[in-house]
Amino acid sequence: MQDLIRGLLIQLGEDPDREGLLRTPGRVEKALTFLTSGYAVNIDEVINEALFTVDYSEMVIVKDIDFYSLCEHHLLPFFGKCHIAYIPASKVIGLSKIPRLVDVFSRRLQIQERLTNQIADTIRDKIAPLGVAVVMEATHLCMSMRGVEKQNSFAVTSAMHGVFRTSARTRMEFLELIKLRSAVPGVRQGAPEAFASVADD
Ligand code: ZN
Repeated sequence: MQDLIRGLLIQLGEDPDREGLLRTPGRVEKALTFLTSGYAVNIDEVINEALFTVDYSEMVIVKDIDFYSLCEHHLLPFFGKCHIAYIPASKVIGLSKIPRLVDVFSRRLQIQERLTNQIADTIRDKIAPLGVAVVMEATHLCMSMRGVEKQNSFAVTSAMHGVFRTSARTRMEFLELIKLRSAVPGVRQGAPEAFASVADD
């Protein structure tokens, strides 16, 4: 990979032998390897030992999970907050494993819509809850750095399964709860109309 990064620096018009860039290929390789380390992780090994049978059927919410990912169209970061809720049928996931689940799928080349779906689908498949909802709010550097659309715009994506899809009341309860103390500015009012999809050019 370091030879490729060296070649890339030359293509960009740089001199890879100047002092400040000498160790850049090695650093970039290390950074990219970490930022895509989710490919090497088996999701079963992450959560299988943290699935518990419980007699609990209220909504479980984990909100404001920070995530950092790379957009697969530009290899530039997108990052923000992820909010997850589910209503257990008989099983729950250890709470500490939920941010880990977000990390595993974030550390791959992604589009925000697929990332959102993968997190929701995994929870659905692993514990068969009555419902699961995932909302992700993110800033995409490929939009803000390139001046595409508004510099401070957020992309908000959601995936809803089960009762979060069939019951407007359950869905609104979740959206109200994540709206209360959302750490991301700009989405406090009117979450539903702020929903948008991500530019792909
Ligand atoms: Zn992009």
